[in-house]
Amino acid sequence: MKANCWMGRNTVEVREVPDPVILNSRDAIVRVTSTSICGSDLHLYDGYMPTMEKGDILGHEFMGEVVEVGSKVSTLKVGDRVVVPFPIACGNCTSCEHGLYSLCENSNPNAGLAEKFMGHTPSGVFGYSHMLGGYPGGQAQYARVPFADVGPIKIEDDLPDEKVLFLSDILPTGWMGAEMCDIKPGDTIAVWGAGPVGQFAVASAYLMGAERVICIDRFPYRLRTAERAGAEPLNYQEVDVLDALRDITAGRGPDACIDAVGMEAHHPVPAMYAYDRAKQAARLETERPYALREAILACRNGGIVSVIGVYGGLIDKFPMGSLMNRSLTLRGGQCHVQRYLKPLLKKIRKDEIDPSFVISHRMALEDAPRGYEMFKNKMDDCNKIVLTP
Ligand SMILES: [Zn+2]
Ligand SMILES: [Zn+2]
Repeated sequence: MKANCWMGRNTVEVREVPDPVILNSRDAIVRVTSTSICGSDLHLYDGYMPTMEKGDILGHEFMGEVVEVGSKVSTLKVGDRVVVPFPIACGNCTSCEHGLYSLCENSNPNAGLAEKFMGHTPSGVFGYSHMLGGYPGGQAQYARVPFADVGPIKIEDDLPDEKVLFLSDILPTGWMGAEMCDIKPGDTIAVWGAGPVGQFAVASAYLMGAERVICIDRFPYRLRTAERAGAEPLNYQEVDVLDALRDITAGRGPDACIDAVGMEAHHPVPAMYAYDRAKQAARLETERPYALREAILACRNGGIVSVIGVYGGLIDKFPMGSLMNRSLTLRGGQCHVQRYLKPLLKKIRKDEIDPSFVISHRMALEDAPRGYEMFKNKMDDCNKIVLTP
């Protein structure tokens, strides 16, 4: 089959690789019909996530048709259409039983590696480094889906791929980012990052009752898409974000702040950017956490900072004094996608949300290398790319 493979920094290549086969009785093989490139794939592309190896198949957002099931998968049959969540979860461990699927205790065969970096291991993830299991991803014609009796959700034939594909990651991730804010009617929420996850966080915050949602970015086209979801745009290259948020909230600050940016944030002050960029390049810190620092400083006293942007390791100059003295709550997590699939599918079916509004480009899988380059460099107003194998 053909698959999009990580071949080193800034290099992906669509290569001919062996077809996946059933390895465990709870596996299924899915013929991928749609897959997408995620902002978090860029952290791999840019070489900032450790433990990638040449030839690793990328992709954690995919859906398709079941073509084979293991003997213990009774919930799926050949021919079913499914969306596959990005965290791989067994459904039986303590974390899974508590709905914390991205913390599954049984799905990362390289747990020891992750423990060295993070203390304990999260779940395995498709196409996202050996530290997170070394699982081949879904930017391919076929994918092996472990614990197929737990993760994939069946999709009725009348819903097109583009409306449901993002259940695999970015829609539930944006939703969970807003959910972690404990939004009450009248709340003002600020979202750093007007990429697709930020755009979904904006839409979710309104669905949860927020009064105002402000979205912060520097690309006008991304801010315009967030505006379509209802956001008030704030371009950090034009205004001082902390001042602007103070003005908007009568001096108090937003009730909750969502970091939908993560480890490769950009900073408008060249000296600040150069400082973290250099330390990151020298591996003295692994992140450029401007969005997170700003979200903490902006948040109102006693408010919540919700982190859904991806971080890999250690950060510098963390404003702990602000967090502690002002009684802030810091929350974060890889999305526990499995627990949001049914409720969000229902919202899509009822037309409360149509996630396809984030799509800007459609390409064949073979064009993945061009897609990564376009998405990374924000060429042609690239917001979200769907690949068809
Ligand atoms: Zn993703
Ligand atoms: Zn589990």
